[in-house]
Amino acid sequence: MKLQEYHARRLLLAQGLPVPDFAVADTPAGVREATESFLATGAGRVVLKAQLLVGGRGKAGGVKLAATPEEAEDAASQILGMDIKGTIVRRVLVAPAADIAAEFYLACVLDRGARRVLLMGCVEGGVEIEVVAAERPEAIKQVHAHPHLGLLDYQARTMAFALGLGGTHLRSFVSIAKGLYRTMVANDADLVEINPLAIVREPAPDALPREELQCLDAKMTIDDSALERHVEIEAMRDVAEEDPVDVAAREQGLSFIRLEGTIGCMVNGAGLAMTTMDLIKRAGGEPANFLDIGGGAKADKVETAMRLILADPHVRAILVNIFGGIARGDEVAHGLVDARRQQERHVPMVVRIVGTNADEAARILDEAGDPDIQTALNLDDAVEKAVAAAATVAAAPA
Ligand code: GDP
Ligand code: MN
Repeated sequence: MKLQEYHARRLLLAQGLPVPDFAVADTPAGVREATESFLATGAGRVVLKAQLLVGGRGKAGGVKLAATPEEAEDAASQILGMDIKGTIVRRVLVAPAADIAAEFYLACVLDRGARRVLLMGCVEGGVEIEVVAAERPEAIKQVHAHPHLGLLDYQARTMAFALGLGGTHLRSFVSIAKGLYRTMVANDADLVEINPLAIVREPAPDALPREELQCLDAKMTIDDSALERHVEIEAMRDVAEEDPVDVAAREQGLSFIRLEGTIGCMVNGAGLAMTTMDLIKRAGGEPANFLDIGGGAKADKVETAMRLILADPHVRAILVNIFGGIARGDEVAHGLVDARRQQERHVPMVVRIVGTNADEAARILDEAGDPDIQTALNLDDAVEKAVAAAATVAAAPA
């Protein structure tokens, strides 16, 4: 699960990282009010940032500076409602604008291959790190945390020196890197990214300006399987920005992943679902989704699954492959027939149900008398029929 920047910032603050003050508003008037209070406490300007789950907001016009409450209100009315990569902006983060001297990239990711947390840093912060990674991977410095002891001081210092952050910034960098690691572990995150981690000039009225490291952006994704033990993070979920298909699938406890092909798959068991997809590919077809309706699937789950599959306009045929164990064939067959009656869009469906109550399932499907439903004797037969059906049906109007 991805977190909004303002949520991620709060989790960084909770681990003691230097995150500048900020407020969140969802109206231009709210942005104006927040701006007034930041300007009153000495800020010269404020920065306004669109709150979205997608990156590259700066380039898309979602990050703006303002020097007066009027300017901020104006800028906010441009940003709110803006469409960035298909998502409408509904919230703006307001913060005193930082006077940036340098920008770095710093992140912790889960390195599954190494089975360790990986700290990554780069002196080219602020820009899209994906571009650097593709063009000059050697520019990204890497240090693996110790699997039991965590990120050790010397490891953090190694990263600091690799980024040229010795001297006055060394101690602060070490504490930021270690805080990043703690944020990762404490929240079961698989990514915590600060881009930019900036050297910021702080005005010091009666002395030379001080420079300090600050986290000016925050991106975080949480391991979905760990959300059960983080009620407070689950509450940060932004359903409005998630794909409605994903939301419906999660509510019904279905594992559903949309793919690019034309053959919708309804299968019970992750392994059988993978095998079914392999066989479709071998027969020259392309699966439109991965779907595991789970053991003991009841009629209502089947109905939701069918709705999710048909929500994809590329689907031209559906292959149902059920191995009845705990799931009963007759339950699934009833679910299919019911779902079929409720759907407006009909595509050919090939059904293979074996195992518990398979005979009854065949009878139910037969009695439904739906000419678009074919049954199959075995999996090869089912796959062949589904691929053939998908090839003859025209795509639905998008
Ligand atoms: P992103 O584009 O979605 O990653 O959004 P960021 O928060 O990283 O902002 C993009 C860029 O805007 C940063 O790399 C900075 O150059 C600039 N920026 C962000 N915050 C400030 C700020 O407080 N002051 C100034 N001067 N620039 C900022
Ligand atoms: Mn950024």
